Amino acid sequence: MNVYDSARMADVLAPHGYVRVDDAEDADLLILNTCHIREKAAEKVYSELGRLRRLKPRGGSGGPMIAVAGCVAQAEGDELIRRAPHVDIVVGPQTYHRLPELIARAAGPARHVVDTEFPVEPKFDHLPDEAEPRGPSAFVTVQEGCDKFCAFCVVPYTRGAEYSRPAADVIAEVRRLVVAGSREITLLGQNVNAYHGPAPGGAYHGPAPGGADHGKAPSGGEWRLGRLIRELAEIDGLERIRYTTSHPRDMDDDLIAAHGEVPRLMPFLHLPVQSGSDSVLAAMNRGHGVADYRAVVDRLRRARADIALSSDFIVGHPGEPDADFERTLALVREVGFAQAYSFKYSRRPGTPASVLPGQVPEAVKADRLAELQSLLAAQQLAFNRRFEGETVTVLFDRPGSRPNQIAGRSEYMQAVHVDCAGAAEVEAGMGGFADVVIVEGRANSLAGRLAARAPGPATASA
Ligand code: SAH
Ligand code: SF4
Repeated sequence: MNVYDSARMADVLAPHGYVRVDDAEDADLLILNTCHIREKAAEKVYSELGRLRRLKPRGGSGGPMIAVAGCVAQAEGDELIRRAPHVDIVVGPQTYHRLPELIARAAGPARHVVDTEFPVEPKFDHLPDEAEPRGPSAFVTVQEGCDKFCAFCVVPYTRGAEYSRPAADVIAEVRRLVVAGSREITLLGQNVNAYHGPAPGGAYHGPAPGGADHGKAPSGGEWRLGRLIRELAEIDGLERIRYTTSHPRDMDDDLIAAHGEVPRLMPFLHLPVQSGSDSVLAAMNRGHGVADYRAVVDRLRRARADIALSSDFIVGHPGEPDADFERTLALVREVGFAQAYSFKYSRRPGTPASVLPGQVPEAVKADRLAELQSLLAAQQLAFNRRFEGETVTVLFDRPGSRPNQIAGRSEYMQAVHVDCAGAAEVEAGMGGFADVVIVEGRANSLAGRLAARAPGPATASA
């Protein structure tokens, strides 16, 4: 979501004459868009700020203006200026549409400006259209914030209460992105499948690209995520839809059914479970048990047999004994994941878990993480190897790390690298789909060679 927010900040600043530069040395304004989810992410902000201090003349004015945005800004507020006085602007994730005004204030006598308000009117109502194309694969925030209050998590405090954007706004944004060349959209939210946005109603939101207005009458009421996805799947030129991050408790029937019924909804789902122990899940306040998670996975697999899953895990949550960690390993073996993120529990100030008894020693957390990660890595490698000799469709969105190499993603989000005959072939393939014969499935990627170019509208319009 920070990637999305950063692009939106650039949109806000573009009408004021700002363009992106590659080097901090060349910038008039530096914005660090920050993450507070774990201590390590938050601490990185201060070390980065330390590095940037050399760009500011000692004691005086001048040098680039420095802004800290995102969840560290939200959580730290004035404290950030106290610890790093060379910071000019602190702006939370809900008010970055005010950046031009904050910049003007920071340039005046105020010098330091802090805006960590949660405004009543959502920022989305104030954001201009995209200043530049987002590329073949683009993010669109549809939902923000969280009302679930898992014991370990800062998100409800930093991102605020749950908010869902009106469906019509999302549809309009996706249409704009597709017109500008995006072929894949990932719908974003801290709890994306808790989405319940106002349905399109009353206002006419313009025809789809290509002129088709799919005849959907304004219906009033609310749309859940499944309904929104079904609507987006009708946009010509949009070939792939994903959503992240979803919560097991919000996987409703229609969303699960959509996985079986909407071919453009990709067969890969990130569905965090955190732990395979009922008592740890209860201590985490996740609001579901292990059996509930298994049941959701079963229903998803019934809807779409080839769906692959990814997840998040936390090891060493307060009060997690060895036996409960073993239950996480057992769940991983049972479900089988194509990919996963796993973390040592990080004690976050102000969260209920931070004051629970039974904090787990770092060394124990480290051992558990290593064991879990080796199991997950083995599953990921096995998943990737299954594709050797198969033909997969890849959306190419970036150059590879080697010369004349092109890289993209499979339907299952695997990174796929292909060596091309030359720079012209890289150029021709960029931004479009192609069929790739997989030569080798590796730990974190697939290596392949181009088959015949995929026919159809995607290639023609790329
Ligand atoms: N809303 C999503 C997750 C958002 S946070 C969900 O509920 O699943 C992204 C991931 O960061 C979480 O899934 C969790 O695994 C991890 N995380 C969050 N807080 C953490 C903490 N205090 N320590 C370690 N990992 C944490
Ligand atoms: Fe954090 Fe996700 Fe729990 Fe919300 S549901 S509190 S974002 S882990």
